[in-house]
Amino acid sequence: MKRVVVFEAHGDDMEFLAGGTIAKFCALGHEVTVVVATDNDKGSFELSAAEMRAVRDKEINGAAAVLGVKRVIPLGYSDGDLAWQTRPEQLRCQFMRIIRQVKADIVFSWDPFTPYENHPDHRAVAMAACEAASFAHFPLYHPELLAEGLEPHYVGEQWYFAKSPRDQNKFVDIDGYIEKKIDALCQHDAQMVLTIADMQHHLRASGLDVPWLVSLDPHDYREPIGMRMKAAAQAVARHAGLDCQYAEGFRRTRFGGIESLVKDQTIPEDV
Ligand SMILES: [Zn+2]
Repeated sequence: MKRVVVFEAHGDDMEFLAGGTIAKFCALGHEVTVVVATDNDKGSFELSAAEMRAVRDKEINGAAAVLGVKRVIPLGYSDGDLAWQTRPEQLRCQFMRIIRQVKADIVFSWDPFTPYENHPDHRAVAMAACEAASFAHFPLYHPELLAEGLEPHYVGEQWYFAKSPRDQNKFVDIDGYIEKKIDALCQHDAQMVLTIADMQHHLRASGLDVPWLVSLDPHDYREPIGMRMKAAAQAVARHAGLDCQYAEGFRRTRFGGIESLVKDQTIPEDV
């Protein structure tokens, strides 16, 4: 059994890009913890920030239950403001504390090194997660953690997802988990309404004609979200040349690249 920690900025980040893979880890008996940095409290055209904060727990816990996630840790920062509500080293320390508490074997997060990432929360979480996972076994980093009784802990694998992925080297067959991924996304009701409404903003401004989208009630998101998730997962499976219908892709580093020292040995795969 491996202990997996997902660091994400918003409740639905992981579900969009790694939900099938996380569902698979859970189904195979691995223990998953999801850390949600912000309250999603700017993610609506309809609800107030306070109303968004009020639905956050229900949505993130609902999605976790669908996927089989064992533990959700909300950090409570404000959506869009993470990078200036906390300094980078504070966020890194907070993430390292969780890694040492949970004794994470595998960390998932946004990829800090892909281009065109427009969301400051994604960029902040990505870099803090990457640094925390890389140095959690260094005893002299953040000595306050040792003082708290949290011993250095080695993280073997880092799995990164991205909107504009580069250098992906690990693809996961999610044929048995695509419906769970969609079900988990739909637990994030406010965020799915926002996703459709935002697409409609782009469509209206573009002057293009997409009849099903322009006339869609954003609250009827389930079918279009499911369609888009399936199309994206099919494209990944095709690109990876996998013998499956649906897949998710990651840039993964394992054990600091130590595999390059050997020719005739391989590290077993968990999923
Ligand atoms: Zn996000």
